[in-house]
Amino acid sequence: MSIPVYDWIRFHAEGQPGKLAAVDVESGRRLTYAQFNDRVTRLARGLSEKFGIAKGDRVAVLAPNSTDQMEVQFAAQKLGFIYLDWRLAVPELEYISRDGTPALLVFHASMRDPALQIAERAGIPATLEMTDGGESAYEQLIARSQPEQLPSPSLTHDDPWSIIYTSGTTGRPKGALLTHGQMFYNDLHCALHMALSPPSVSLTFLPMFHVGGLCVYLAPTVHFGGTNYVMRGFDAAVALRLLADQSTGITHGFAVPTNLIMIEQLPGFAEADFSHLVSVGIGGAAPSPTLLATYNKKGMNLQHAWGMTETATLGTVLSPDKATEKIGAAGRPVLHTQIRIVDTGGNVCGPGAVGELQIKGPTVTPGYWNKPDANAASFVDGGWFRTGDAAVCDADGYYTIVDRWKDMYISGGENVYPAEIENVLYQINTVAECAVIGIPHDKWGEVGRAFIVLKAGAETTAEAVQAHCRSQLARYKVPTEVRFIVELPHNATGKVTKHALPKT
Ligand code: AMP
Repeated sequence: MSIPVYDWIRFHAEGQPGKLAAVDVESGRRLTYAQFNDRVTRLARGLSEKFGIAKGDRVAVLAPNSTDQMEVQFAAQKLGFIYLDWRLAVPELEYISRDGTPALLVFHASMRDPALQIAERAGIPATLEMTDGGESAYEQLIARSQPEQLPSPSLTHDDPWSIIYTSGTTGRPKGALLTHGQMFYNDLHCALHMALSPPSVSLTFLPMFHVGGLCVYLAPTVHFGGTNYVMRGFDAAVALRLLADQSTGITHGFAVPTNLIMIEQLPGFAEADFSHLVSVGIGGAAPSPTLLATYNKKGMNLQHAWGMTETATLGTVLSPDKATEKIGAAGRPVLHTQIRIVDTGGNVCGPGAVGELQIKGPTVTPGYWNKPDANAASFVDGGWFRTGDAAVCDADGYYTIVDRWKDMYISGGENVYPAEIENVLYQINTVAECAVIGIPHDKWGEVGRAFIVLKAGAETTAEAVQAHCRSQLARYKVPTEVRFIVELPHNATGKVTKHALPKT
């Protein structure tokens, strides 16, 4: 029997109407559960009555993070439409809107031009503009709608709640379906493995169009009736202030490594006290052991996790008591979930062998929207999802992510995983951020090129960097070229986009 979907915010509005549900950091707006539920109920009603939105329709959102965006996400839970959130890469938007065929585009005023252009080009029938609580079509829709809830659609855990487009660094972006059931189980995993609970207060600065913003920990915090602080986007100084400020009561946050690299370089970092934080997750890209050790020393309760859009985030989590002993590992599989490592010949590997990480469980996507070929290629052996990540499991069952398969290069016949070299570069205390890629080479086939951003005012030379690598790595792994640059390219989630680094 399929499990029905329950209306979380209505439940909390009835049980704890005065509890703070959400704070919009940029505009200062604060919503109790009663207010949040009232606005979302009216919004759902308005979307149904004015735009004819119904179960299964797609509603797209193009906006920076805000509590308004949370309202659209949760109106989808009440009305059963599929929330289609977009990455902000403008050239991809038209493709995505043709693929996702939304019935409505909700956009923030700051993105009016691209939003209207895309709506016209892709034939999206209606648009709705929101500001940050100011006069807007969005606010009018809410104000003019009735506060009584429409009859609930018959939704089950198998119905999609969101479509999140994966980055598409190779080929076209693919829309991963995230069902109500996937989100439900991810919420349980946040509770079990990251101690998220009703008193939790979460800080979100990763984009809500990515699972890093949506699934850790925004949606689960609503599920448990906690409080969400929503930042418009990542701002290192604001994030540091909020994480260190005990008066906000913030207990949880989730970051990609670049976020914590930037926070660590702020002058206020040395004095900041993070001991009140229950759990700060780090994942989405490989954090270096040097970075993890810096935060462990500060007593931040940093929890390394591995996950991806297609797994509604958490796939593995490192428990806090293993933070030092297993530093660098992304932990063990979350409850309800199986993970295996498979070699290129399709054989399941034992401990110590590098292979592709494959995952099976209730947080794994049922598939991509509109992509039968990708779906056929992504699942093997009765439902194991192929992640494209190279990983290794140790004898205790702890998984370390070695790298993306596609980022590996071959130098003189040897496999080189750039993440291993980057970890060594991070040991150099003048290095703020770095990335290594393979470039073509006449003799060795491929060799490494390191891109390094130095800390403010710091100096070093390519020779000194290579000398350090030689002391730590086999010769074929030492980058033959070292380039110092001002900034690495990042995507909107804050991850380094290696494909944008020059190969020539
Ligand atoms: P996305 O779907 O955009 O969230 O990207 C998911 C990918 O991020 C994974 O397939 C991994 O390649 C990478 N990733 C996530 N967590 C980690 C981690 N802890 N260490 C290394 N890579 C990670």
